[in-house]
Amino acid sequence: MRIDLHTHSLASDGTQAPTELITAAQQAGLDVVAITDHDGTGGWAEAAEAATRVGIELVRGIEISTKHRHHGVHLLAYLPDPTHPGLRAELDRIVEGRSSRAPAMVAALRRAGIEVSMDDIAAAVPGRPHVADALVRQGVVSSRDEAFSEYLNPGRPGYVNRYAADLTATIRLVASAGGVTVLAHPWGRGRKDDLPAGDIARLRDAGLSGVEVDHQDHKDPDVREELRAVARDLDLVVTGSSDHHGLGKTNHELGCNTTAPDEYERLLERAAAAAAASARRTPEVVGGR
Ligand code: AMP
Ligand code: ZN
Ligand code: FE
Ligand code: FE
Repeated sequence: MRIDLHTHSLASDGTQAPTELITAAQQAGLDVVAITDHDGTGGWAEAAEAATRVGIELVRGIEISTKHRHHGVHLLAYLPDPTHPGLRAELDRIVEGRSSRAPAMVAALRRAGIEVSMDDIAAAVPGRPHVADALVRQGVVSSRDEAFSEYLNPGRPGYVNRYAADLTATIRLVASAGGVTVLAHPWGRGRKDDLPAGDIARLRDAGLSGVEVDHQDHKDPDVREELRAVARDLDLVVTGSSDHHGLGKTNHELGCNTTAPDEYERLLERAAAAAAASARRTPEVVGGR
């Protein structure tokens, strides 16, 4: 069983339509894939249809933009009721923050002498990668990576902050929508100090179900092992995933990291318990053989 629980489509900043993503996942030899676009469920319906057709098990999820101690944290939410009013309102608020940031980024770049316009970055859930792609197309930079390091990371001329939801509150919100939550790449990009083990313990007490350990942003094997030990101590589910973005991110191929089958089972058990406790109608896993 090969299980990849974190991927992106054109419904956020991946480069594949959900159907292409699901087909590619099946062709990569995956048995289970989760679609986890940023801050929305726009890809869910198409992905579910494709998964049922090609016969790959699909978990519907969202990677939610949150903040904790003034730092951004990505929170994976699996199988919540997408019609839950509180969750819907929070996702709408985050996407609104993205939508108002986009013209502010364009304005900031234009002040820095870069000729971009809103027409270049049209997207349903606009993110910095869409701006990065525009800079690549204009020949300003040669890759998304270079666009981030030169223009889009904090402190660079095109950076603009945006709204993110409170991490602990969002964990509770997803639970009330009948879903489960997993911290995405919590110690990636040198961010270990922002989420120490004591904080992860408190998040667990708020309802967190798991931690994504095997992720390309956790480059140092010692970091992975330390995080794995923290997760084990706290009885949190350990996941692994590619965080695939199609052609948008190199070194994130489908299945490059995977989740162990018994950890996946534990996650589904917790999702079933969360769904029952919430009394919400939550999405099923679909497309399994
Ligand atoms: P945003 O959420 O719009 O602020 O943009 C963050 C997104 O950009 C996340 O999906 C990251 O995976 C992606 N990202 C961050 N740094 C890079 C990079 N150097 N190259 C490509 N994508 C990146
Ligand atoms: Zn992304
Ligand atoms: Fe992320
Ligand atoms: Fe992601």
